[in-house]
Amino acid sequence: MSKTILVTGAAGFIGSHVTHAFLERGDRVVGVDNLNDFYAPERKRANLDELRQNGVGGKQFTFVEADLRNRGLADRLLSENTFDAIVHLAGMGGVRNSIEEPRLYFAVNLESTLDLLEAARRRPVENFVFASTSSVYGATERIPFVETDPCDRPLAPYAASKRAAEVLGFTYHHLHRLNFTALRFFTVYGPRNRPDMMAYKVADNLFFGREVALYNEGRVWRDWTYVDDIVSGVLAATDRPLGYEIFNLGRGEPVLLADFIRRLEELAGRKANFVPAPLPDTDILSTHADIGKARRLLDYQPRVSVGEGVARFWEWYRRRVLVAKRAA
Ligand code: NAD
Repeated sequence: MSKTILVTGAAGFIGSHVTHAFLERGDRVVGVDNLNDFYAPERKRANLDELRQNGVGGKQFTFVEADLRNRGLADRLLSENTFDAIVHLAGMGGVRNSIEEPRLYFAVNLESTLDLLEAARRRPVENFVFASTSSVYGATERIPFVETDPCDRPLAPYAASKRAAEVLGFTYHHLHRLNFTALRFFTVYGPRNRPDMMAYKVADNLFFGREVALYNEGRVWRDWTYVDDIVSGVLAATDRPLGYEIFNLGRGEPVLLADFIRRLEELAGRKANFVPAPLPDTDILSTHADIGKARRLLDYQPRVSVGEGVARFWEWYRRRVLVAKRAA
């Protein structure tokens, strides 16, 4: 049976893919996003245009341009619609940026979540899915990362704000029996990638020579996860009200940054130029998801290898740049 779903952050990188997938399977989506300028709002508008051009949705998709920091917005959205689920992906990303603007990160990532939870507790919303992050593991010594880790040593305001929102979700589950699932995404990449993320920055360097810092000479391991795999995890979590749960959504196979870059260089047929830099205090050397719990309870199965994912990402990036050049 088709569902009605509120997707926050629907114009963003992950949000636009998730929205597409819900619409494609016949659900109705109300998408909300403030199209902020953390990166170019034109990219977010282009994501929305693509959703409409792809022909999915039609009347099934309603977009609301609004800021979740506006008190009363969450309540208004939930009084005007009856949602089966809230998929809360809106957020301020960017670990290092959060050092400069901690209040903004807490206002968006924590307080907006509080408003949505408050609005949801008085209504028959069956499920609340929240976008969390591998960054909550912070200064953990346990590798691979397991959901039972205390995660009480976050290394940046971004990570602290996401962990606080996960914890708040438990309170609402406990007091109001709300089903709440936090999904910890691990370094997501793919078409419509955020331009502040490493995959995009390397592509920009290979294509335009734009400067990019290389931390620790590329000796950094990341559990790169292709966006389609994340989408399938989000859909599975949305369809399963589980009380209160937290899941890692990664591939479970960390790849050395230097190898990820090498793959892009092979596709581009040239070498990237980097500015060497030490690993920032906000970052750890390695992220590695234990995805056993997601496999068991969500039937989560990452399918796209890093080799394949990088090729798909590069193809998208090249096409995007060529189209932009032609239009200029
Ligand atoms: P994104 O920046 O592309 O998408 C987030 C969207 O939220 C943006 O379109 C933005 O305009 C919107 N937004 C931000 N503040 C808002 C507000 N106050 N009101 C309404 N809309 C607002 O980022 P993304 O990479 O797609 O990330 C989606 C979610 O997943 C975020 O919560 C992020 O923290 C989380 N996450 C992403 C990654 C990753 O690797 N991309 C990893 C871990 C967690």
